[in-house]
Amino acid sequence: MNRVLVVGSINMDLVVETDEFPAPGETLLGRRFATYPGGKGANQAVAARRLGAQVAMLGCVGRDAFGRELSDRLAAEGIDLCHLRTDGEASTGVAAITVSRAENSIVVVPGANHRLSPDDVAAAGEAFAEADVVLCQLEIPLATVAAAAGLAQRHGKPFLLNPAPAASLPADLSERIALLTPNEHELAVLSAGAGDGTWQARLARRPGRVLMTRGADGAWFAGRDGQLHHQPAFRVTAVDTTGAGDTFNGALAAFWGRPLAELARLACAASALSVTRAGAQGGMPTRDQLASFLGEAL
Ligand code: ADP
Repeated sequence: MNRVLVVGSINMDLVVETDEFPAPGETLLGRRFATYPGGKGANQAVAARRLGAQVAMLGCVGRDAFGRELSDRLAAEGIDLCHLRTDGEASTGVAAITVSRAENSIVVVPGANHRLSPDDVAAAGEAFAEADVVLCQLEIPLATVAAAAGLAQRHGKPFLLNPAPAASLPADLSERIALLTPNEHELAVLSAGAGDGTWQARLARRPGRVLMTRGADGAWFAGRDGQLHHQPAFRVTAVDTTGAGDTFNGALAAFWGRPLAELARLACAASALSVTRAGAQGGMPTRDQLASFLGEAL
């Protein structure tokens, strides 16, 4: 199985359920409170690990209770934390999520995630040397993402980028990306300035380099011949789609090395399983669960 290095964010999601959103200055009684480990980096690391990859995480937490709890949980998943830094000045990243009826309002405080620096990347050269594939997202500073892409290239390692949350990327970073995995909105933001058009046209401009997720429609990419390929989503009863994209990306890294159509199929299957259970990490399948869902050996 692949050795995956994830360079990314680690958050605690703090979820409050209420009947109404409070107005400014108002105090309400909520119904329920729960904490969930999150952050796209940590989620993707857990997804890849459950699918059997050896995973190392390069990230940063604060010197606080959430930082300790999150690192304990990652360690319990079997993720190598040799390159996890504890920062004495920032809090662990949190997402404060208020849920009322079917709506969310979210405040993200990146905290220590925004202190993961190009120097931290440079200090983790050994992890890049040992990895088969490097997986990154955009919840850490762009300069750090660029440094990770540069170091991956120097070590001759493929660099996968899930460009979420949406941002446009400098050209020298784009050139170093083996595979980009935007959703439709993120693809539009990435392509801004490159002439408008449909998502189909945007995919066709980057054959074999972009795999776009499209929720319950599945995933799309343009093959080297410029033809569009569609991997339909697997039919499941969706309970909670949080973490579907993270499971998708973790699966790509875990199975990296197979043809793109096969990667898309495996990633869609893994993410379909993930939406059948609550929580971002709660539904992420193991390799055995994925194999029995597909009815084949992996
Ligand atoms: P993001 O949350 O990052 O925008 P998507 O919503 O596109 O990600 O979901 C990522 C992948 O998860 C999709 O490509 C699809 O394979 C799978 N997926 C998402 N929602 C469903 C669903 N309702 N049923 C089955 N698969 C789903």
